[in-house]
Amino acid sequence: MVGLDVEGKALARAYSIVSPNYEEHLEFFSIKVQDGPLTSRLQHLKVGDTVLIGRKPTGTLIVDNLLPGKTLWLLSTGTGLAPFLSIIRDPDIYERFERVILTHTCRLKGELAYMDFIRHDLPGHEYLGDIIKEKLVYYPTVTREAFDNEGRITDLIASGKLFEDLGVPAFTPENDRIMLCGSTAMLKDTTTLLSAAGLVEGKNSAPGHYVIERAFVD
Ligand SMILES: Cc1cc2nc3c(=O)[nH]c(=O)nc-3n(C[C@H](O)[C@H](O)[C@H](O)COP(=O)(O)OP(=O)(O)OC[C@H]3O[C@@H](n4cnc5c(N)ncnc54)[C@H](O)[C@@H]3O)c2cc1C
Repeated sequence: MVGLDVEGKALARAYSIVSPNYEEHLEFFSIKVQDGPLTSRLQHLKVGDTVLIGRKPTGTLIVDNLLPGKTLWLLSTGTGLAPFLSIIRDPDIYERFERVILTHTCRLKGELAYMDFIRHDLPGHEYLGDIIKEKLVYYPTVTREAFDNEGRITDLIASGKLFEDLGVPAFTPENDRIMLCGSTAMLKDTTTLLSAAGLVEGKNSAPGHYVIERAFVD
């Protein structure tokens, strides 16, 4: 939870942590909702202002909730990218999977946050650069203007274009593990496609083929 003290009361919202677990600082990636109670204020923060941070992290995008597999897919829309920015800098992920594929879908090119960081900075990472160059594949797409990759991720999965573009086979319960973070509609449509491919959701009690987390509440 991230929040601010507003007239003596804590105003807090759920956030994903962008920074990896070994960093000294915490980084967040935030939407700016025009009239949003928190973000209308958060966007005007100045250096030295106090931010409230919850002590107890919770969430469902946990790799231990996934069965072992070959390819890990991280499918995100909008600020749903946030938790994956931490995961793609976790050395353990590259030990567990042969390949990690990150997709990020936004309406416009300018909303593809962290694109330069993922494409240009991460491969030069002091310790993880080599393994990232070998195993991480990044696939950004936009839905409302011309770009290298266009369309909703659900349409790209359903048509098979995602797999064709990446030169990999379509999802199978044997090989593929999927983490999803996006809008309610994206989660609903994608899980329908995953179920049709025979994949089941993983929980704490029973690891499965995919796990989901909402990027925000509608
Ligand atoms: C598990 C979880 C993790 C989250 N992680 C993040 C994160 O890492 N980064 C982040 O920016 N937000 C994240 N959110 C959303 C966040 O909790 C707040 O909704 C956001 O900060 C806006 O707060 P607000 O008080 O300004 O407006 P709110 O009253 O909370 O939201 C107003 C409306 O704005 C829209 N909205 C809110 N958040 C988003 C969003 N992220 N993208 C698109 N539309 C949105 C929704 O329609 C919502 O009803 C997360 C939410 C959940 C449940």
